[in-house]
Amino acid sequence: MKINVLTLFPDMFTPLQVSMLGRGLEDGKWDLNLVNFRDFTTDVHHHVDDTPYGGGAGMVLQIMPIKKALDSLPSTGKVIITAPQGKTFNEQVAQKWAKEDELTFICGHYEGFDQRVYELADETVSIGDYVLTGGELPTMSMIDATVRLIPGILGNAASPVEESFSHGLLEYPQYTRPADFEGNKVPEVLTSGNHQKIAEWRHKEALKVTYLHRPDMLKDRQFTDEEKKMLREIKSELD
Ligand code: SAM
Repeated sequence: MKINVLTLFPDMFTPLQVSMLGRGLEDGKWDLNLVNFRDFTTDVHHHVDDTPYGGGAGMVLQIMPIKKALDSLPSTGKVIITAPQGKTFNEQVAQKWAKEDELTFICGHYEGFDQRVYELADETVSIGDYVLTGGELPTMSMIDATVRLIPGILGNAASPVEESFSHGLLEYPQYTRPADFEGNKVPEVLTSGNHQKIAEWRHKEALKVTYLHRPDMLKDRQFTDEEKKMLREIKSELD
């Protein structure tokens, strides 16, 4: 997958170039092309922003440098604008994007974009109901969530399959050595070697964690008979 990012701050993108994503870059499993749209200005001061028509605080990003930067790319794939007004990014969006060959993100700054910039994009996406200084951190979060789903990026191929949100549930609790930490013991079933029992325990715990922390995720779930039974047990255990 090729990912282009139009940004005024390409130096911010080092977190994507370390650890598993960094190895993926080195191995050519994905490619990151950082484009500073300030390079596409034509005035001597390299302005990318101007005051808003109609007055008001702050500066608005102009369309011209962004359009020129986009036009300079041989291809863009899906073009994504980062903005608080966008639809909220989630794991399902990451799964969809992970199947694309190319994506292009546009990072805003200051007061955001001239409205006409939105017409250059296929999607406008937010990472949540809060306002950040710029689109760089949202873009990095979304790239991380997307690229880690590309086969071969994570060491253990199975790990994204069982994670939170991938099956509409949060992840079950995980434990590692020691089996007993100052009297706080790992659930016995996990050291039993009985894979069927372990799978059942994990399924029920995933349901329980979701029920406790994110009941909204269960609202439209089509429960299996087994899950209905587990949920009844969970509720009576919690009473
Ligand atoms: N004036 C804008 C508003 O009220 O919606 C906020 C602009 S914000 C200070 C500057 C840039 O940061 C935005 O253009 C966008 O690219 C990025 N940004 C800020 N919060 C974001 C969020 N929650 N999700 C995605 N991008 C965000």
